[in-house]
Amino acid sequence: MDVRNNIEELAVFTGEPFSAEKLFVGRPNIGNRDRFMERMNDILDRRWLTNNGQYVQELECRIAELIGVKHCIAMCNATIALEIVIRGLGLTGEVIVPSFTFVATPHSLQWQQITPVFCDIDPRTHNLDPQRVEEMITPRTTGIIGVHVWGRPCAVEELTELAERRGLKLLFDAAHAFACSHNGSMIGSFGDAEVFSFHATKFFNTFEGGAVTTNNDELAAQIRLMKNFGFAGYDNVDYIGTNGKMTEVSAAMGLTSLEALDGFIDVNRRNYLHYRQALAGLSGVRLLVYSETEKCNYQYIVLEIDETVTGIGRDQLIDVLHAENVLARRYFYPGCHQMEPYRSHFPHARLLLPNTEQLASRVMSLPTGTSVTPDNIDKICAIIRLSVTHGAELMKRLDSRG
Ligand SMILES: *Cc1c(COP(=O)(O)O)cnc(C)c1O
Repeated sequence: MDVRNNIEELAVFTGEPFSAEKLFVGRPNIGNRDRFMERMNDILDRRWLTNNGQYVQELECRIAELIGVKHCIAMCNATIALEIVIRGLGLTGEVIVPSFTFVATPHSLQWQQITPVFCDIDPRTHNLDPQRVEEMITPRTTGIIGVHVWGRPCAVEELTELAERRGLKLLFDAAHAFACSHNGSMIGSFGDAEVFSFHATKFFNTFEGGAVTTNNDELAAQIRLMKNFGFAGYDNVDYIGTNGKMTEVSAAMGLTSLEALDGFIDVNRRNYLHYRQALAGLSGVRLLVYSETEKCNYQYIVLEIDETVTGIGRDQLIDVLHAENVLARRYFYPGCHQMEPYRSHFPHARLLLPNTEQLASRVMSLPTGTSVTPDNIDKICAIIRLSVTHGAELMKRLDSRG
């Protein structure tokens, strides 16, 4: 059955999903296949597969140009990139991070015996609350990592002022924020450095990959050494390093994705506006708002469900959608502070993170990207509308199902 007129018809009861095909959050955006294959052939003809190859160098130049930053260093993924920048900046002791982020953000600190100090967010922006950050500073604090969650910029000016005043390093995890701007400048140019993820599920992908961008010449040179075992010449190792190199295959995918970037944004924006229109006026369901005056990749369709209004909880709504083959997802649930190994180390963290806990219990994200059509969105929104307008009744029926 295609259209749902009453809750009895939902797949959670009938077992018949509206979509035969599963609709995923984070299905990769893929550029021109022929261009990618041409580049693959070039790589094989050249027999240069990795180690700062031609495509990696080209990708770094293109990204630096796009962002308007002096240095872009491509890497194998964002987690290793974060670890390397953290080391390059000389961070030690404690570093303040949000808990409402992907677990790689605190892991990149704890992996090298630096304590991630979880800080609460501003419930309106979903990003670090600068006032709370200042309260978390101790004599052991050496830096702050802001995360531009959903590609919406952190409180960049406030955090920059705070870091300067307190003598701290400032790094941004920009994993979500490729091709997004803040006050007209591209994200990637703020703080001491920023780190992007080009993982398959991100807006712009290189299969796996990431990059550091910075205007600091010395830091850039150091990061280049560190991501290549510390090699400064053929037999000359200057530094303790690791292996953070990007392969030519990944760079070929990146160059191909860059050529398709405007198209990805157009589709994501079209989908976002379609969701906005289809969910308009639905009480208890708030769609995340993107700025109309900034550049934005619209990669995340984010809803906040207020159960006191809808009668149906976020988790039950996700169950209803999953039965329909719409694989909506909770995000950053239950918060990094609630995951091992952090949970038992910071048993009191919850008390300091009320906004994080509240948000992690309400937020969900819906499928978008180049594999999702306006017709898919109409059907998804019809199911959400039906579920929410009959929330209390639906909850009762779901409960009695056992
Ligand atoms: C995806 C992501 C990462 C990790 O990126 P990888 O490239 O997969 O290592 C880090 N931080 C955030 C906020 C992310 O979403």
